[in-house]
Amino acid sequence: MNIPKSHPRYKSLLYREKIVEGINRGYTSQVGLVAHGRGEAFDYLLGEKTSSYAHAACEAAVAKLMSTRSVLSANGNVAALCAEEYVTLSKVLNAPIEVNLFYRTPERMKAMEKRFLEAGAEEVLGLAEDAEIQIESERRKVDSRGIYSRETVLVPLEDGDRTEALKRMGKFVIAIDLNPLSRTAKKADITIVDNIVRAVPLMVELAKKKPRWRGFDNAANLAGSMAIMQQNLSNSQ
Ligand code: ATP
Ligand code: MG
Repeated sequence: MNIPKSHPRYKSLLYREKIVEGINRGYTSQVGLVAHGRGEAFDYLLGEKTSSYAHAACEAAVAKLMSTRSVLSANGNVAALCAEEYVTLSKVLNAPIEVNLFYRTPERMKAMEKRFLEAGAEEVLGLAEDAEIQIESERRKVDSRGIYSRETVLVPLEDGDRTEALKRMGKFVIAIDLNPLSRTAKKADITIVDNIVRAVPLMVELAKKKPRWRGFDNAANLAGSMAIMQQNLSNSQ
């Protein structure tokens, strides 16, 4: 569909179209639309911009990802919304991308790999299926060279179950999740409460400055994001 650039919700419509394209091309699941809609609602409450809290979380995340052996997990919405930027982040951080899907089929795994290779990735992990983490869903299937063995895992648009499983394995978990109330947001060590389409390019920029790890208080940061949402709600009355 051709969305006129002058439309007041141009960007929002464009990202919806990208998810639909992901479904048509076989890497995004239809359920991805629902997750996207939930994200949009929280983004509205945030004012659709990166807050100072999200900025601080991105900086801490980059510092941690750069100073440890890390891996960037990817699902169908990540592939649809920002595959190129995710590949750039993977390169600046020297951390591989691993595909991990809840609605996993061999065809979708292949389509995901193709999407990231087209976007410039040299290698895409996750298809080997040679290790498992302790959860019931299809997301238990991981790569021994990636999520299974690396210390720090970036998990955008995650489900709480897998975040908990990764924490039980002693991993440092960094989430990107617009919903500060989700289990994922609360369980992660660092939660970036921002839209992935803004957070990933910001992380690329921050990585160039090589930030130092100075620790991070996730509960305080989440409270800050929630306060912004509350403020926006009360201002609009
Ligand atoms: P839990 O509470 O267990 O973490 P959940 O119900 O939130 O689970 P999902 O629906 O799988 O799990 O998660 C999708 C999450 O991703 C939602 O919290 C949603 O707000 C967030 N999300 C969706 N789109 C984006 C986006 N573009 N950028 C950042 N976060 C997003
Ligand atoms: Mg979640």
